[in-house]
Parts: sequence; C-alpha cells; structure tokens
Amino acid sequence: MKVIKFGGTSVGSAQRMKNMVDIVVREGKVMVVLSAMSGTTNSLISITDKLKNNLDEEALSCIGELEKKYTATVDELLPSSDSRAKGLVVVDEIMGKLRGYAGTNIKVKQEKEIVAFGEKLSTRLVNLYMRERGLDVILLDAAEFMRIKEDGEPDTEYIKKHITDKLDSNPSHMIYLTQGFICRNHIGEIDNLQRGGSDYTASLIGSAINADEIQIWTDIDGMHNNDPRFVEGTAPVHELHFEEAAELAYFGAKILHPTCVQPAKSANIPVRLLNTMQPDAPGTVIYNTKPDHKIKAIAAKDNITAIKIKSSRMLLAYGFLRKVFEIFEKHHTAIDMITTSEVGVSVTIDNEDNIDPIINELSQYGAVTVDRDMVIICVVGDLEWQNRGFEAKVVDALRNVPVRMISYGGSNYNISLLVKKEDKIRSLQLLSEHLF
Ligand code: ASP
Ligand code: MG
Repeated sequence: MKVIKFGGTSVGSAQRMKNMVDIVVREGKVMVVLSAMSGTTNSLISITDKLKNNLDEEALSCIGELEKKYTATVDELLPSSDSRAKGLVVVDEIMGKLRGYAGTNIKVKQEKEIVAFGEKLSTRLVNLYMRERGLDVILLDAAEFMRIKEDGEPDTEYIKKHITDKLDSNPSHMIYLTQGFICRNHIGEIDNLQRGGSDYTASLIGSAINADEIQIWTDIDGMHNNDPRFVEGTAPVHELHFEEAAELAYFGAKILHPTCVQPAKSANIPVRLLNTMQPDAPGTVIYNTKPDHKIKAIAAKDNITAIKIKSSRMLLAYGFLRKVFEIFEKHHTAIDMITTSEVGVSVTIDNEDNIDPIINELSQYGAVTVDRDMVIICVVGDLEWQNRGFEAKVVDALRNVPVRMISYGGSNYNISLLVKKEDKIRSLQLLSEHLF
C-alpha cells in the first residue's frame, strides 16, 4: 500500500479537492493523509490569539469568515443535496465548537484543540465527496493512533501498534483517509506535530505500515536544483539520496518538511515529491540512491547569526570546544555550522532568543564577535571526499563574494558557506551558473 499526502494548496479549494481525488483513484489501495485547506491553520492560530487576548468579538468575526469559506466549499464540492446537507452539518458542528471557546480561558491545551480543526474539516469534507463518487473510503481519526512522547518525539511503537490494529480491523477498504498534523501527547491530550507536520504524519505512517512508497503532493514539480524565486531556469532533481534530501529540506527547500525524511529513511521507503498541477510529471524520488558523484542542488537558510570565540588559550588546549558547546546546550540553542582554527571557533545559530546570556558566558573563554543577517548557502550532492574537484568549483563560483565561513567534511553530502544577506541571491545565481 502507498501513503499519499496532499498539502494545503492541493486541498485549497473545492476544485482542488476534486482533482486530488482523481489522483487518489489512480493508485489502488492507499492511505491518504490530508493537510488543512491552505490558510486555515493560520486563521485558527489567529483566532486563538484573539481569544487569548479577550478580543472575542474579533475572534467571532474571523470564525464567521471561516464559516463562509467552508459553506461555499461545501456548495461547490458536494453535488447532491443529501451530501451537501451532511457537509453543512460538519461545518456547523466545528464552527459551533470554535465559538464555544469564546469567553473561556484559552491555555496551550485549548490552542492545540483549536488548530486541529483544520485537518478535521478537510478530511470530513473530502470523505463525503469520495462517498458521493462511490469510492470505498473509510475515515480514520489520526488522534487514535498518532502519538508523541513526553519529549515531543513521535512514539513510533505506539503508532505502529495502533495503526496496524486499525487496518487489521478494517481490512477491506480501498482508501484509508486520515488527518496529517494531528496527534495526541503522552497524557492523551490533542496535540500536533508542529507547523508543516503533515509530511511527518505521512512518513511516520508509511514507516509504521511498511508502505511501498510515500508520496508528498504539492504544487511544485519536485525538489528544484536551486530556489526558483531567485534563480531563473532551475530544474527539478529527479533522484536524491535520503541524506541529500534531508540537507536540502533543513537548509531551506520548502517543499518537504525536514522531519519527514528520517522515518522513511530508517524504514527504507522511497519518498516521491509530486505536483497536483502536473500529475504526470516525474517529480523527485528520494531513496538510497547509488553514488553518482554529482552536485544536485543548492539551498539557502536565512536569518543566521555567526558567533566567533577567539582564544589564545585554545592553543594545544583540550576541553575548549566542550566548554563552548555546553554553553549553547545550556541555553537550548542549536548550532548549524561550525568552523575551527587553532585559536578560535565560529558557529552559527538561527535562534537568537538566548544570545545575550550565551555571549556573556562565552566571553570568559575569549573575545566574542557576532555577525548578524547572514545566510547559509548549502550545496548538496554526492560529495564523498575522495571525489575530486567539487570544493574547488564551489569556491571558484563565489570568488567575488565575501564568504564568512566554509564547512565541508561533516557529511558526504554538503558544503555550507556563510555569506551576507545582501549577497544571497547573487551567490545562488553564481552557483547555478558554475555548477549546472
Ligand atoms: N495544517 C498544518 C500547517 O499548516 C500542517 C500541514 O499542513 O502540514 O502547518
Ligand atoms: Mg506543507
């Protein structure tokens, strides 16, 4: 069985939902994972913000807007008056629940319940539409098998057991439909897999049921070899190794959520990125590809801060790096890039929340310098060190751009370079010109 996931834009209107179902029926027996209609999760978050700030009138007016949008979707999506009536019951029920939060105390628990409504709406409406088309579909409630542990990580054993039980007790359907994003936490409350988490749901389900393939449908024809917003003439990369895809997702390729790669990779299940607007285009397939010694793609990650600690005492000293890293760990700040020399170390972070205490504590080990508004440019491919020439090509491409840090050798799959924000677009363009 394949797991196929459709993102917000792929279910973004009644017409898109219909197109999406055309794609589903081509695949045989499938598990379908849906996001909320595009814009809905943002609206729900803005409604919770208003409720938290006691702006109930404003929240109710947003709920009214949302209700209008969904009523129109029901009208357009569902052809028979019978299923339209059922669709309106769904909309009514969920808007009623949303309104019920007005005037109550909104805590984290209630926020999580509210943001889950987006995926509930999309799946219930698509379920009605599939039934109207005579398809053999069953709607499974993700909250009954998706679960995270106390540390927020998915409880993969629980997920595997519960989804397998669900499928075993409903063995004969063609389409199993469920919500992305939604789960329960370790104490059984409604929770979620974080923004963009529907990809993660698909990958977790895929590995739990040992799917033949995981398909992620969006509105772009695969992972491109550079950012099409800044570089002309980019092209989809047809094949990527799991590690290459993980680097690209993490370093800025918006098409795939970074967390999605790991479960598919450990279960060795191919992930295919496909485009609902061009269903027959090949897209990108991610799997354990054979080494091909090629540079595949370039991505950029914005809002990076570089911190340099220069200490004469690092000379021949051991324990210096540990002390430096401990400070970042203590302040829950992840490090992206690292470069070292005999007398200093530079690291980058993408979260400045705790930068003041970090700098303060680092200062006891040496002189600290901070460069803000930087961008990591990440070149990804099969870059095993015994292959010759690609470091030279990358550096040569950026010969006229000031580069603050270069990092290579941490993995076989990436070279990272740190440049100023204003040099980002030029760097992406130069790399495309020189490498492809
Ligand atoms: N609806 C959620 C979000 O907008 C999850 C997802 O679409 O992946 O973040
Ligand atoms: Mg998404």
